[in-house]
Amino acid sequence: MPVPPQRPDLHCHSIVSDGTRSPTWLAQRAHERGVDLWALTDHDEVGGVAEAAAAASTLGLPFLSGVEISVTWQDKTIHIVGLGVDENHSELVEGLRRTRNGRVERGQAMAAQLEKIGIPGVWQGALKYVGNPELVSRSHLARHLVDAGVCRSMGEVFYLYLKEGKPGFVPHQWASLPDALGWIHAAGGMAVVAHPARYDLTPAQEQAFFDDFVALGGQGVEVVTSAHSPAESAHFAALAQQRGLYASCGSDFHCPEENRCELGALPPLPTGLVPVWEPLAARIRKSAPSSAAQPTN
Ligand code: AMP
Ligand code: MN
Ligand code: MN
Ligand code: MN
Repeated sequence: MPVPPQRPDLHCHSIVSDGTRSPTWLAQRAHERGVDLWALTDHDEVGGVAEAAAAASTLGLPFLSGVEISVTWQDKTIHIVGLGVDENHSELVEGLRRTRNGRVERGQAMAAQLEKIGIPGVWQGALKYVGNPELVSRSHLARHLVDAGVCRSMGEVFYLYLKEGKPGFVPHQWASLPDALGWIHAAGGMAVVAHPARYDLTPAQEQAFFDDFVALGGQGVEVVTSAHSPAESAHFAALAQQRGLYASCGSDFHCPEENRCELGALPPLPTGLVPVWEPLAARIRKSAPSSAAQPTN
């Protein structure tokens, strides 16, 4: 029996999406913080996975490839994490490329709306923080607005300007749920509902969403995440048990300066759940044998 991970962290972001550090930096941070099973899950992008896997391998840090896909379900934006995917699978790569389409135009439209209410220069300002020209996120606009002194925190930017219903918000059509799950499954991965308490679903919507997710072959749910209160984690632990879903956990780390959750700083999964790393065991990348680096004389 392999030893189960003591400090798994299966959700975080690099500069390839809306984090601020490289995949290599994140691997080192995860390792320093005692993470013993790690996944990189950039938004709509697997471009950082190869670097993350190489860095994790050098550190002897067990690694799962990952992605967090933006999905539109019944006019709501829902995030689906794919774990253990083949990051080179053409169907996944092409689907993600299409999902990223329109982010630049959306960012420019958000900036134009902010300009109308007296906040100019947001597009040019946001571009200074963008690491991947195909992946402009609301986070990049928000970083600029904090650093320019318009708001005191990222949370304040979203609350005042960028959340749905606020003056800078521009709705967007993301991937469909069947497409997102289809790409993850084609690439050999497991689909996991990211931070399910964050979508303000009514009980009926929650039931309908998980009915659709399970019918499409979705198998996992994040139970422990920085976005959940203890009561929300307990709710989704019970849901995982009722629906026979595997349980995942992740900090959703983006940036050390933004005062969100640190890598590896999560409570353990509640007991009685089957963790996602059990069925994904064969997809976990362990470090290459060090003998490869030995001189042969
Ligand atoms: P986007 O994919 O462009 O819609 O951006 C979504 C991202 O914005 C999320 O992945 C979070 O990183 C960030 N975000 C959303 N709400 C908040 C918030 N209240 N505070 C800080 N960051 C947020
Ligand atoms: Mn994000
Ligand atoms: Mn998310
Ligand atoms: Mn995330």
